[in-house]
Amino acid sequence: MARPPQAVASHCPYCALQCAQSLTLCSGTVEVAGRDFPTNRGGLCQKGWTSAAVLRAPDRLTTPLVRGRSGEIEPTSWDAALDLIAMRLKEIRDTHGPDAVAVFGGGGLTNEKAYQLGKFARIALGTANIDYNGRFCMSSAVAAMNRSLGVDRGLPFPLTDLGGADAILLLGSNLAETMPPAVAHLAGARAAGGLIVVDPRASATARLADDGAGLHLQPVPGTDLPVLLGLLHVVFAEGLTDAAYVAQRTTGAEDARRLAASWWPARVEAVTGVSEVQLRAAAHHLAAASPSRGGSGAYVLTGRGVEQSSQGTATVGAAINLALALGLVGRVGSGYGAITGQGNGQGGREHGQKSDQLPGYRMIDDPAARAHVADVWGVDPAIIPGKGRPAVELLDSLGREGGPRALLVHGANLRVSAPNARHVTDRLDALDLLVVCDVVPSETAQRADVVLPVLQWAEEEGTMTSLEGRILRRRKAIEPPAGARSELWVWSELASRLGAPGVWEIDAALVFDELARASAGGRADYSGLSHARLDAEDAAVHWPCPATDGVPHPGTPRLFLDDFPTPDGRARFVVADDVGPAEATGPDAPTHLVTGRVLQHYQSGAQTRRVAELAGASPEPFVEVHPVLADRHGIEPGDLVEVTSARGSARAIARVTDAVRPDTVFMPFHWAGVGSANRVTNDVTDPVSGMPEFKVCAVTVARLDLA
Ligand code: SF4
Repeated sequence: MARPPQAVASHCPYCALQCAQSLTLCSGTVEVAGRDFPTNRGGLCQKGWTSAAVLRAPDRLTTPLVRGRSGEIEPTSWDAALDLIAMRLKEIRDTHGPDAVAVFGGGGLTNEKAYQLGKFARIALGTANIDYNGRFCMSSAVAAMNRSLGVDRGLPFPLTDLGGADAILLLGSNLAETMPPAVAHLAGARAAGGLIVVDPRASATARLADDGAGLHLQPVPGTDLPVLLGLLHVVFAEGLTDAAYVAQRTTGAEDARRLAASWWPARVEAVTGVSEVQLRAAAHHLAAASPSRGGSGAYVLTGRGVEQSSQGTATVGAAINLALALGLVGRVGSGYGAITGQGNGQGGREHGQKSDQLPGYRMIDDPAARAHVADVWGVDPAIIPGKGRPAVELLDSLGREGGPRALLVHGANLRVSAPNARHVTDRLDALDLLVVCDVVPSETAQRADVVLPVLQWAEEEGTMTSLEGRILRRRKAIEPPAGARSELWVWSELASRLGAPGVWEIDAALVFDELARASAGGRADYSGLSHARLDAEDAAVHWPCPATDGVPHPGTPRLFLDDFPTPDGRARFVVADDVGPAEATGPDAPTHLVTGRVLQHYQSGAQTRRVAELAGASPEPFVEVHPVLADRHGIEPGDLVEVTSARGSARAIARVTDAVRPDTVFMPFHWAGVGSANRVTNDVTDPVSGMPEFKVCAVTVARLDLA
């Protein structure tokens, strides 16, 4: 009798919620079911249910491709492709120096790949120029958490803790569409009337606060920082602070109070459009739920809407200041957290893909960190390069005098996901060599000189680290196409051809062991973990989880309960005043553009646009226009509309709705070509984090006549 197919326990290939899935191989295809886990409680969103479709995408890449003399991309063998890449990289390095080769990674790569890619860039290529698309995702929250709290972990507490809170302030996150199963954790706050959503748009998440479930504050785009300064004003001025907590666990509160004093509610209302009444109500909801007032708990949470700003670090810093003033951070049942977006946005930034960091969140200019990592890598610390260029600066330098001449891209679709995307395409086209590893011919792969077909989620082993710092096992459920290879194998082969020092494991479990040694003693310490231990503990383990001599360390679900990892053990109020968005609206560009995601698509859409159910439900780019603005421009629902900024234009189908403000239009950013919202967005960056200002720019709106 045939044995029933075995279900493989794994996790979704998309967002940072990393919902637990059960994968069953039936007649050669993978069937996906939700699996019970604390974060998703058995649920999956539409993207998760349909995720197996990408495994059998009709245009799945299964053979290396090389651009021939005719300019056409042609199939070739793995040996020929790798030999060509190695030869061209050597030529470019010999002519222009090692920093003329650059690497761009992704927040969707497994921990093992993120680690190995950082090592490959530094000691096989010898380049300082590596950064990744997490710079576009979490960098402002990371910078602010490090400055204020001493370490960055998106949620420094389990997601399930949110369920007990009576108040949650959610700034710039549309998790009802980006990670729907997470909405269940807002139920306690909604029942208590304490869900407070800050979003210029009445998103699906903002509507969760309707009907007595809370408040929706709908500020002018780009004014999140004044909203937070106004909330702080009310908390300080109306005696809502947790004075004992502030005195014992923080420093710098007086500076924060002084700045907030200048943001009285009437001024905030004039700048942001959020009424004094709403501002006071929000502050009092949060304070009433705080533990110092006997409440059940309160959280302040940020997302990309407030972080993807030229003052994103200052804005997240103000959100943390608010949580500190209320005595929320480092207490069970309360806190501050940033909702990570990409699948391994958390782990992807811990293991050395960032331009300024080595594994374990170690700073690359710290001599002790360099010595530790060099020892694990078996190299002289002197050969590890220093700090490289952050993502936007790196992309802008491609092909320029003194900039990189070659770029290797792993897990990123830059021509759709980067700001000012047409400019990015121009820079990619200026390179001598563009190599892209991908599973499908993404818009970036279509421009490459060499395309390498790699494995995807259900075809390989590895680990991911979720938005709450929980390390999860990704497991193989199906054999990959014959021509595809793991990036771990690709880097090993290239390292060998380049004569690189060190050992280049291709087994993910062995790479994890090396990663764990490299992380030992660092802020994100995985040294007490292995694939074997994670297999045995399917609920997975939160970092830090250091190695022990005896009983295994249980991991650390909640950070900061005793102290903060700062020099004095206290959290810091870090203060910065508002300077406004980089691009103001005016007579030439009177309307704000804000961007975001829809339920059916993930990031650049390279995967989800290939899934029939998702593409059918959300087939084309659209722009939301308020009825007043639509009337002014003669726009009817279904019209083709052009949205234009100083950088370029995008075209999309009009949806006329009062979900947006009359001064604002909204576009999702999942589509390529003329429908790409990122042709319009601003690539100016936050000076602290390097985060581009995706979320607000000044545009004109016009109906296009097709006749
Ligand atoms: Fe869960 Fe995110 Fe996957 Fe949806 S996309 S199933 S929310 S992990």
